Amino acid sequence: MTAGAIGKVGIVGAGAMGRGIAQLLAQNSVQARLYDIEGEAVAAAREAVTAIWRRLVEKGRMTEAQMAEAQGRLQAASALTEFKDCDLVIEAVVEKLEVKRALFTELEGVVAEDAILASNTSSLSITAIAAACARPERVAGLHFFNPVPLMKLVEIVAGELSAPEVTERLAALVAATGHRGVKVGDTPGFLVNHAGRAYGTEALRLLQEGVAPPAAVDRVAREAGGFRMGPFELLDLTGLDVSIPVMESIYHGFHEEPRLKPAEIGRRRLTAGLLGRKTGEGFYRYGEDGKKLEPALPEEPSGKAPANIAVGGEGWAAEALRDWARAQGLDLLPPGDAALVLVAPLGEDVSSLCARLGLDPRHTLGMDVVFGLESHRTLAANPATLPEKAGEALALARKDGTPATLIEDSPGLLMQRLVASIVNLASEIAQLGIAAPDDIDAAVTLGLGYPHGPLAWGDALGPERVLEILRGLEVATGDPRYRPSLWLRRRAELGLSLLTEAAG
Ligand code: NAD
Repeated sequence: MTAGAIGKVGIVGAGAMGRGIAQLLAQNSVQARLYDIEGEAVAAAREAVTAIWRRLVEKGRMTEAQMAEAQGRLQAASALTEFKDCDLVIEAVVEKLEVKRALFTELEGVVAEDAILASNTSSLSITAIAAACARPERVAGLHFFNPVPLMKLVEIVAGELSAPEVTERLAALVAATGHRGVKVGDTPGFLVNHAGRAYGTEALRLLQEGVAPPAAVDRVAREAGGFRMGPFELLDLTGLDVSIPVMESIYHGFHEEPRLKPAEIGRRRLTAGLLGRKTGEGFYRYGEDGKKLEPALPEEPSGKAPANIAVGGEGWAAEALRDWARAQGLDLLPPGDAALVLVAPLGEDVSSLCARLGLDPRHTLGMDVVFGLESHRTLAANPATLPEKAGEALALARKDGTPATLIEDSPGLLMQRLVASIVNLASEIAQLGIAAPDDIDAAVTLGLGYPHGPLAWGDALGPERVLEILRGLEVATGDPRYRPSLWLRRRAELGLSLLTEAAG
């Protein structure tokens, strides 16, 4: 197969994705020929793209001349045979394996020897599509995100038999459009949908365990974690009819890997029709105008901020909590003498810290020192905590005007669980060789909008601390979901960055 530049592209399917791909290519000097089984769909797509270009011209982001050139490059095809001279054909038709296989078999009889056949599938195996072809080595995935011109990420998926030149040529095409291409193995969910499994599934577990209501989890995720949207806001936006089947199919695709295991509550809520924004109710209710209605907050215990506290435990987290207490002007007393005892859990819960350190659980709460000490403080009670002590702890945490949330006991509180799960899953994706470390971080920030790439985030927290949190979670829950990835463990133990590639 020759490795020439791709200049002419055929696109099958003129729906949301096909027209977006055609727009992007035509804007970037590539000839895009669009075909759809529904005759009118192509004309409608060209009109829609032209309307977008017109707006860009009005806003001064495109000149009239550039628009005319792009229009000239966006052509209509009335039959697949018109793709005869295309270097590449991208299919963006309905998400059905049999339809895509039949289409590729037909295209093989049309295109030249060295033409590439690519699928924009989100969830089907590229290897399974290619298996129907006489020359599976010319088949690969080219997974764009919606809306294509704005979502700057493209997953370039190598099927089991894809030739390396094929993915190289696709990578060069993607780079020429200004989008960021990431090379990805043909595994369930590819990269972005796989890496995105930790945030939602862990949030659903927090909910199922009764740790905190959705609005509290979302607020902490935004204010202490820096996420643009909380996990439940995101689930409501996407809709459980989309998210839950994706969670389940990736979990089963990896043969019931515990790290990917969905929480039962998700399927139950889907069955009840609580899909999210689209049905007016999900984890939140929505008004007639589609706006989120703020839920009533549960009543909080009240109390007065104490003048002294004790901080239980040793190690850097306990020291960080002591430093914070001193900065608040508090007297630090021994646990038996203080009005209130605070501990700083790392993957552990408050109950087990009380038992391990011999602290009176009635007077003890946990505070997260890893996330949000400056922006949004998270406090956890244990089942024996006296309500007035919880009230005192809340008053203390809010004394300088910083918001705080009280949750039920939870190993690693809230953010530690969410972020350690995200870092661990990204580490495992690297360990499995699905993508290179830099590409994992780029894909997660561009494709999911997380505040940091997960591997760089793990580095910023300290790989050994993430490892400590995961080990604590594993011991506290006995759940293999939290077992640390070998990628993470090795780099933490060797003092290396999580972005360190495997040798060789
Ligand atoms: P869509 O329903 O908007 O468009 C599909 C188009 O394909 C329709 O116009 C339909 O008439 C046409 N079509 C169906 N069968 C055909 C055939 N045999 N030959 C020619 N045309 C045919 O769908 P979409 O949202 O654009 O998705 C297309 C593909 O892209 C799917 O595989 C989907 O999984 C994937 N994808 C979608 C998104 C998204 O957010 N919409 C994101 C990434 C990937």
